[in-house]
Amino acid sequence: MADIIQLLPDHVANQIAAGEVVQRPASVVKELVENAIDANATSIKLIVKEAGKTQIQVIDNGKGMSETDARLCFERHATSKIKSADDLFQLQTKGFRGEALASIAAIAHVELKTKLEYNDLGTAIVIEGSEVKSQEVVVTPQGTSISVKNLFFNIPARRNFLKSHTVELRHIVDEFHRIALAHPSVEFILYHNGSELFNLPKSNYRQRIVNVFGSKINDKLVPVSEDTEIVKITGFVAKPEYSRKTKSEQFFFVNNRFIKSGYLNHAVSAAFEGLLKEGYYPSYFLNLEVDPHSIDINIHPTKTEIKFEDEHTLYAIIRSAVKHSLGQFNVAPVLDFDS
Ligand code: ADP
Ligand code: MG
Repeated sequence: MADIIQLLPDHVANQIAAGEVVQRPASVVKELVENAIDANATSIKLIVKEAGKTQIQVIDNGKGMSETDARLCFERHATSKIKSADDLFQLQTKGFRGEALASIAAIAHVELKTKLEYNDLGTAIVIEGSEVKSQEVVVTPQGTSISVKNLFFNIPARRNFLKSHTVELRHIVDEFHRIALAHPSVEFILYHNGSELFNLPKSNYRQRIVNVFGSKINDKLVPVSEDTEIVKITGFVAKPEYSRKTKSEQFFFVNNRFIKSGYLNHAVSAAFEGLLKEGYYPSYFLNLEVDPHSIDINIHPTKTEIKFEDEHTLYAIIRSAVKHSLGQFNVAPVLDFDS
């Protein structure tokens, strides 16, 4: 018998995929809240217990799912968001891999309740370690509620690898900020261990930034706006005197998706050259709108990195737009950083 290759059973494949998609509780938060956004929710509630280690629940008022879809959404490569590979280059949604719920259900206890707008009744599913425990008809409001308990219950090595509550909650709040900043027209509420950490009403972009980071940033925000053939830039940079000792208030959104880019980051820092004291970093909230054909989002499972067709030009445009804004608003070098 020389043949030794076998196809992995689904639950094993799901658990392996989960290793990429779900690194920590914050990854679950990201995937669930993004799904709520993709479902056109206008109000999203995030309920977290013990930094997400015991429970993460997301309740949305989005379009909900049918009984069949509620079952299918936990299958691997099951998605309503793309139909062909070409769709990857005209994405309107956060999701497209159809992997998140399958991965999460492989490594946690999940309870889903969902109802479509025009149905009287909804459906509830309990699934643990990829195994469906029950599915029944229930009374539930329009939209979807997903509760994820006991993350990594069947991967002790992963569970033990989790950091302290403080660190894991920090990661959750970071994800929450990113999504809330990208969608000011959606209401977001975050509870942790029963207390309300954030209550962000539907608002405009400036107001959302202020609601997230506090009123002291309000009069420090300088608008940035540029419209070229390859990119439309909108958003704000904070005046140099507001600069921080960490890079925690630096946000790039590309077509409404938070992305990390050291390179573009540098473009903003370059515009601030000479304005910041050593060891201080600018705060910024910049939205880039680009032709979806000119980027590739599918280079990393968490989709926070993007490949741009013309990164160098983008760099130059961002740097000059920020420089222009700083100049226009008479931001002279400030020597007193004590404020
Ligand atoms: P993806 O988001 O990449 O499609 P997911 O595993 O995150 O993959 O979700 C699978 C599918 O389940 C989605 O395509 C969507 O149709 C459905 N779904 C997931 N979450 C929600 C939600 N909150 N409301 C409505 N539908 C949802
Ligand atoms: Mg998704």
